[in-house]
Amino acid sequence: MSAERPSEERVQQLAGEMLDAARAHQASPLSGSFWSDQLMQWALSDPAFKVELFRFVDVFPALRTPDAIHRHLQEYLWRDDVPTPMGLKTGLRLGGMMKGVLAKTTVSRIERMASTFIAGRDAADAMPRLRKLWDAGIGFSIDLLGEACLSDAEARAYQQRYLDVIETLGRTTLDWPDRPAIERDHLGPVPRANVSIKITSLAAKVDPMDFEGSIDRLAAALEPILAAAAKHGVFVNFDMEHHHLKDLTTSVFERCCERHDFSAGLAMQAYLRSGDDDLRRVIAWAKRTGRRVTVRLVKGAYWDYEQIEAERQGWPVPVWLNKAETDACFERMAAHGIANTPRSAGEGGVTIALGSHNARSLAVGLAAAEAADLPKSAVEVQMLYGMAGSLKTMVVERGLRLREYVPAGEMIPGMAYLVRRLLENTSNESWLRHGSAGDESPERLLADPHASAEAERVSPPSRSGEAMRHALSVAIEGVGDGRPFLNEPMRDFADAGVRRAFAEAVARAGVPAVANDATEADADAAVGRAIGAFPAWRDTPPEARAGVLTRAAGLMRERRDELAGVMIREAGKPWAEADGDVCEAIDFCEYYARQAVALSRPERLGRYLGELNEQWHEPRGVAAVISPWNFPLAICTGMTAAALVTGNAVIVKPAEQTPGIARIMCDILREAGAPRDALRFLPGVGETVGAALVRDPRVALVAFTGSKDVGLDIVRATGVTLDEQTHVKQVIAEMGGKNAIIVDASADLDEAVAGVRASAFGYSGQKCSACSRAIVLDEVYDAFVQRLVNATASLITGDPLDPATDVGPVIDDAAAQKVRRYIEIGNNEGRLALGENADPASSDARLIPPHIFTDIRPEHRLAREEVFGPVLAVMRASDFDHALTLANDVPYRLTGGVYSRTPSHLEKARRGFRVGNLYLNRTITGALVGRQPFGGFGLSGVGSKAGGDEYLLRFVVPRCVAENTLRRGFSPELAD
Ligand code: NAD
Repeated sequence: MSAERPSEERVQQLAGEMLDAARAHQASPLSGSFWSDQLMQWALSDPAFKVELFRFVDVFPALRTPDAIHRHLQEYLWRDDVPTPMGLKTGLRLGGMMKGVLAKTTVSRIERMASTFIAGRDAADAMPRLRKLWDAGIGFSIDLLGEACLSDAEARAYQQRYLDVIETLGRTTLDWPDRPAIERDHLGPVPRANVSIKITSLAAKVDPMDFEGSIDRLAAALEPILAAAAKHGVFVNFDMEHHHLKDLTTSVFERCCERHDFSAGLAMQAYLRSGDDDLRRVIAWAKRTGRRVTVRLVKGAYWDYEQIEAERQGWPVPVWLNKAETDACFERMAAHGIANTPRSAGEGGVTIALGSHNARSLAVGLAAAEAADLPKSAVEVQMLYGMAGSLKTMVVERGLRLREYVPAGEMIPGMAYLVRRLLENTSNESWLRHGSAGDESPERLLADPHASAEAERVSPPSRSGEAMRHALSVAIEGVGDGRPFLNEPMRDFADAGVRRAFAEAVARAGVPAVANDATEADADAAVGRAIGAFPAWRDTPPEARAGVLTRAAGLMRERRDELAGVMIREAGKPWAEADGDVCEAIDFCEYYARQAVALSRPERLGRYLGELNEQWHEPRGVAAVISPWNFPLAICTGMTAAALVTGNAVIVKPAEQTPGIARIMCDILREAGAPRDALRFLPGVGETVGAALVRDPRVALVAFTGSKDVGLDIVRATGVTLDEQTHVKQVIAEMGGKNAIIVDASADLDEAVAGVRASAFGYSGQKCSACSRAIVLDEVYDAFVQRLVNATASLITGDPLDPATDVGPVIDDAAAQKVRRYIEIGNNEGRLALGENADPASSDARLIPPHIFTDIRPEHRLAREEVFGPVLAVMRASDFDHALTLANDVPYRLTGGVYSRTPSHLEKARRGFRVGNLYLNRTITGALVGRQPFGGFGLSGVGSKAGGDEYLLRFVVPRCVAENTLRRGFSPELAD
């Protein structure tokens, strides 16, 4: 694309003129009142204060009383570690009447700040401001701010809002005076009214994993909107959101353009490394189809998010890592788009709208148009409402077509937008801040970003680079590929190639036929073989045992999608759940391999002369691994790998429901080098074969994960030490849960609803960590329940082979009957807010859609017993302490969660919410090896933590040897 870049000389000339003109207009990028606001002054002067202030702004709309506002101001800003300016601190100290005054001042200040960037509550309310822009010779694109769309009902409401806005704008702008400068481009008229839409607001489920389904849903929701836009002559721009939706958004856009005749635009982001290719794709499509569309070229609004998300997932970072590379990409894309701008009305191609507050970026676009012999009307300039006043004046004065991106919406959803703008305006990297403040020389401000991009290039973090930063364990020489432990990244289903490969593997995957036909005699024989194999395996060097695990991890990696496919078929896991299960299994192997070597090496204790004290760990003997069906690969692998790598001989007794995947796991471990007799596979019935193993006096260790009743039976049985026994048995038992999530009044409901829904109904609620109680504070109870019920109703229950499925069948008929019994109990105890009882006689009686019961009280069975299915109990709490009491009022202690933006509540929960794994402001399932060591206490387990650095200690015994190294008065240390 470099050939299309305009001459640097011309760019400098134009950019210089623009910068001078902008600086001449005004010293400030925003209205004076914004910057003179004391709060903003303070925010600019101290980053730590800024973070707390903006966090307060974020929670502010959820605060309903002056008291709540005052308390949160205090909690965020009156802290020793926050350098809150004295003036404000004094205000915060005041009580009584002054509380109300402070709250009132805060409300009006934040509302004033919001009104700088948000034009009104809705289109009608924003209309006077839009008209004012028009009179000033500026166009607009209206953007509807709103809550996250989590349900079909919310999607329909958004659709109606878009229809209303199109109708209102179409009608109202008809009699506005002509403004030729902004109503025509080089090929003809440009619609007056312009609406920006976000596809995620138009369907409850917009998920690249279900690519075709998402496109169908969105196309259907868009149809009436685009028809109305065509009728009223309103332009519709498709906004670009997060990277994982990029291909989906582009595909939906293309499909809509091919089917509907409307004035269309698509936002494209230059901060994406794929920016150049993305634009090429759209241009090629436009030329192929003869369609003319506008590309709103922006740098991108979610830079931090994209980096954090990629890092969290272990995926390549999709954005450029320095600002200059983004600027350079913007310039290339602008020049390329302009070079492909149609010259005649019938021609397909793109016209470019330059969405930037950077004079140089704009100058490149204008220079490119000149170089392409296009008039300036061929290019549009777009800027955000409420920002860059002086640049805007300059753009209008130059006779360019300027359009403002104008958000309208209520306070609560508006806050996310406001905080983003605040961050942008106070950022050190903001061109606007420096460009307008005049604190940066023109040479630096207008320098060619390609030059500095080259100099400052930051390559995407390599896996080993990342490892050093995250380092959850040390690298052990000779183990694996020589790196420390890193979590296996989940599949990125936004990638078409990944989706295709996964679908093909799932289609091909076959579940091995394994009969649960082992007998007690087989158990006896298996223990005998294992006893025989134990000494040699115990004496195998730890590095060699670790090598078995890392090789097994490699084999699982190679067969990843196939293994997921086996679980989808055998255990009914939806796609992403099955993928996560395989990743966790790989993680256990890689993690324990590294931990085990360190544990087995003798460690010298102290440095006493004449004395060598060493401690190391040895295996216990024969281990029985008894696993559940709900994480049929991950949990079975975790327990087996831990026992095996520490040198125990292992007998695997998998759950009756999922012996197929367990068989594959054993085959893989053997292929990786586990001796046949040191790893026995014993598929059989728990009550007979499992019980026999547990009671066999030769078994030294039982690693069990499953229900409380079986776990406690195992604890009892292993507590009996028979005469012929040579050891006391060790039990690792991970058992059930009755986990709660607390939602308080300050919670972000978008996140709380989505988080509770995912935690309660992921894999049909069949996770030990699943949320089965939502404890909601009075103040938000009704609002939360209504959104949760609607959001859950939009989940798709069906066949897990279909990527659209959210909720698959429960594991077997017995489970279905048990869940149905609890549904009956729920009907008697509480109020059924969601759930239609599927016909038990139907061909698939195991398909049970999500059920929600409200008004559940602490004494109800639905509040106390583990259901292990898609059933959620909702309970009401009068305040946060009450919520904590309810949460702790069960004998289980596995997981728990809190959604809150009140710092003191989060602190209270940290200390007082007594569970093994507590999650704040996130889902309560999906613990990652090494990052969230997993396991409960109380009646949820013995307090061990799978995937943590203490886990392997349960599988070994420590040995200590002390040697007197003093011989005839001299010690080796002194002889050196
Ligand atoms: P389950 O207790 O019915 O079975 C677990 C295993 O125990 C199976 O292999 C089974 O064959 C075996 N078993 C059954 N009776 C036995 C007996 N008398 N002696 C020895 N072994 C016997 O559990 P499940 O239905 O497979 O799994 C669901 C349960 O597991 C839930 O309660 C869930 O909360 C719990 N779970 C806990 C964790 C955790 O980490 N805490 C993780 C996953 C599952």
